[in-house]
Amino acid sequence: MSSKVRQVNSKKTDQFKESVIREMTQFAIKHKAVNLGQGVPDFPCPPALKEAAVKAILDDINQYPITFGDKLLRQTLTEKYSAALGFSIDPETEITVTCGTTEALMASILALVDPGEEIIVFEPYYENYFPQTVLAETVVRGVSLTAPRWQFDPDELRQAFSDKTRAIIVNTPHNPTGRVFTTAELTMIAELCQKWGVFMITDEIYEHILYDGARHIHPASLPDMRDLTITITGLSKTYSLTGWRIGWTIANQEITTAIRKVHDFLTIAAPAPLQRAAVQGINLPTSFYLDLAQQYAAKRQYMMETLDKVGMPYNLPEGAYYIFSDVSKYNFVSDIDFAKQLLEKVGVATIPGSTFFSSKSRQANSFVRFCFSRRQETLEAARERLWQAKF
Ligand code: GLN
Repeated sequence: MSSKVRQVNSKKTDQFKESVIREMTQFAIKHKAVNLGQGVPDFPCPPALKEAAVKAILDDINQYPITFGDKLLRQTLTEKYSAALGFSIDPETEITVTCGTTEALMASILALVDPGEEIIVFEPYYENYFPQTVLAETVVRGVSLTAPRWQFDPDELRQAFSDKTRAIIVNTPHNPTGRVFTTAELTMIAELCQKWGVFMITDEIYEHILYDGARHIHPASLPDMRDLTITITGLSKTYSLTGWRIGWTIANQEITTAIRKVHDFLTIAAPAPLQRAAVQGINLPTSFYLDLAQQYAAKRQYMMETLDKVGMPYNLPEGAYYIFSDVSKYNFVSDIDFAKQLLEKVGVATIPGSTFFSSKSRQANSFVRFCFSRRQETLEAARERLWQAKF
């Protein structure tokens, strides 16, 4: 390397590590472990979507689409989300199709938050949020969700808001805990957003994976939240299409204009044929969503029985497809050590809980996350190994 290069990486890159979630998949392959780590289904997506993608490619939908999204997809999303959010959305000015919710979040943060401004996140949080806020040179302000019920303390939330706060990220259903925020909780957050003029950037990627009659409340549907909310969701979890990288933002015209500028220069557009094929998914009948919830309920039940017999405690997930289990009673040095033993000795890959906490959190080292978005055979193989293991 030339001696003129001061150092390879930027100061920003120094502040975060590579993804533990994605790294665990590599370790799982290496150790031939049953992989209950990364939140990615190991079963196929609905056949109609595969056929629609092939058709779109054969129909020559293979060049750049309109940067902010295929027109037909935006129109289809408008119908679905106008009904869900309770107000009419303009597909020409209020929807942006992105490369997954990951890009939707990054584009929203870059478009709306200036360096040095604060973004509130509930902790534990999905791994991506921290590096994304670092990349945007913003400051994370954590508010704890406390085990075992994973609720926040209203006072702590109130104290987190200040003149420096620009946005709060609200992920419901929540990864990794499976919490589904109630109307009362979301209203409390919404009122603080209104008081301080703060944007609520949502991550609703698990919106259709709900249990025991839990209802997903779209934060934008709450009174007076239309102009403060950036609704973010996508195809990945609902249609088992994590590899297509299709997500979207819904926000008023002014916010959307800012997001679209960033999105254009980040990625130009999400894959054109897959956007067109996505229309097929959004138009699936209600029965598809009911089946999805039912299938996940069975998987959750199976996974809970597996952990119950082992004696690993957890809070019942209300949504999403993870169980965040408290393993502190096993007296390992750390959650990372526990996850490592589980991987190498038992042959089951999980995600160490500290991945979802800042290093300051006292809850950081007590949990591992099991993902049950898996075929029955995979869940059975994991059960066999866990039930034979000596903890
Ligand atoms: N959201 C998923 C998880 O939490 C997938 C993460 C990823 O690898 N993109 O595991």
